[in-house]
Amino acid sequence: MTSPAELPPTTRFAPAPTGRLHLGHLANAIYVWGLARRIGGRVLLRIEDHDRQRCRPEHETALLDDLDRLGLAADEPSTDALRAGRSSYRQSDNGALYAAALERLAAVSDVYACDCSRATFAAWRSDHGASWSGRGCPGGCRARGLEPTTGLTLRVALAHGDEGWDDRLLGSRSGPVAADGDLPVRDRNGNWTYALCVVVDDLRHGVDLVVRGEDLVDATPAQIRLARVLGREVPPRFAHHPLVRQPDGSKLSKADNATGIGELLDAGRSTKDLIGEAAFRVGLVARPDPMSFEDALDLLG
Ligand SMILES: [Zn+2]
Repeated sequence: MTSPAELPPTTRFAPAPTGRLHLGHLANAIYVWGLARRIGGRVLLRIEDHDRQRCRPEHETALLDDLDRLGLAADEPSTDALRAGRSSYRQSDNGALYAAALERLAAVSDVYACDCSRATFAAWRSDHGASWSGRGCPGGCRARGLEPTTGLTLRVALAHGDEGWDDRLLGSRSGPVAADGDLPVRDRNGNWTYALCVVVDDLRHGVDLVVRGEDLVDATPAQIRLARVLGREVPPRFAHHPLVRQPDGSKLSKADNATGIGELLDAGRSTKDLIGEAAFRVGLVARPDPMSFEDALDLLG
């Protein structure tokens, strides 16, 4: 019998339709497809629209159009399959699965309602001279038995300690499971959280290689632990890559039209221009010369 480690991996390109695709997404796509190709893996496309207030159907439509214009095709599903209606690969179509995961979590862990707001965390920081860290939350909500109604966050107590992993790009890494409190699994607006959705989706879709920006390094220990509590014995492998940043070092904003794929193509830039610029902005090449997606993938080889 072949062990899972010997099988070609499955990874995913998983944008959130909170705005248009930008150069940061394109850089992520180079890493996702490039690392998958290097080891004979496949790429899934997933629409991460768990945040129902920030995500918009028109953004998803534009995002799928931008992918087609760039010529980026996943092994599964096609952009047309997503346009056709409900999909296993769109988070807003799969709420029952996250609800079922929450029930499984509640059976083996302490899931509790929390009424701490940003102001509660800020007050703690101001009183103690440091941000809240470790298990629980500043308001001690785990012991309060609050009703889990809309308007309150649901958190899961995942115990303490660290989780480590061998990152394909960063090397050996580890960190605390509860770096800034117990993990939220449903937010105060009733949305399933990013952490719960990606852990459930990666498990059900057989994703065993997660390729994403290094801004998510600190979120990884909690996600490894959450997956284990939900029955995933072997965590996925991770590869965290550099982010495309503004010239001043700040993160790209989705509202930053200067890096919007659709806007740049509309303005007459070619697909090869954009791929070369994305590769340059994450340090894969020394100059932003135009290049094909195929050539960019070879940079990961
Ligand atoms: Zn709280």
